Amino acid sequence: MARASATKRIVENCWVLVGEHKRPFWHARRVRPTRGKPASVEFDAAWVLRREEEQGDVVGFYHTHPSGPPQPSSRDDRTMRAWAGALGKPLLCLIEADGAVAAFRYDDDESAGAQLAACERFARSVVIAYEADRAHDKQGKARHDGQ
Ligand SMILES: [Zn+2]
Repeated sequence: MARASATKRIVENCWVLVGEHKRPFWHARRVRPTRGKPASVEFDAAWVLRREEEQGDVVGFYHTHPSGPPQPSSRDDRTMRAWAGALGKPLLCLIEADGAVAAFRYDDDESAGAQLAACERFARSVVIAYEADRAHDKQGKARHDGQ
């Protein structure tokens, strides 16, 4: 949530993530940088929708929390749920704070956002995130025991 920053005007930076999601890995590249206000960023929604329609490779969003924890704000939750619902697929929410990057996955418009096991930044704006938890698999699949 927006918390008034007393003196500094530090803004959040945001990128769209394009790439692919092949469990358990997300391979993404940061593109389309935008700057926002403190504790808020605006994505170029029209660009995202066009990109997804033409390439189908939008995998999420990356943004900074200049003064915040590496956790999604309630606004981030709402934004990510809306996008996951709009694009009809799980999306990655990467948050950079204090030089580290945390990764969260939103499956749909009701998702609470699940933190992923690991996330690393590489050269040329490449980011790789890794899902170690098996919770999604258990949720999404019927069990075949005893059949
Ligand atoms: Zn945020």
